[in-house]
Amino acid sequence: MAKRTKSPSCEEHKFYCLLCGREGIPLLRKTGFQHGALHRKKLYCPYCKVEVNHIEIKNRDEEEQFKEDFQNGVYKDEAEESRAFVGNSRRG
Ligand SMILES: [Zn+2]
Repeated sequence: MAKRTKSPSCEEHKFYCLLCGREGIPLLRKTGFQHGALHRKKLYCPYCKVEVNHIEIKNRDEEEQFKEDFQNGVYKDEAEESRAFVGNSRRG
């Protein structure tokens, strides 16, 4: 039987909504858990009230980068696209 790891240390990662650019619901990740930088995850945004891609922010640098990119409209298309997938209103 595999050993069960006792309460691994976790850290909280922030997620920012690509649609409104606001801080969404944080998730606990195991320390050392890594995707690439600026990983996307579809989460429910309490401000937009839809499921939309969020970007995972692990540190201050990424946070600054995201805010700057968001201001520049870098995520606009991506946000619209990811929202379109979950839209209830289907035409035709
Ligand atoms: Zn949002």
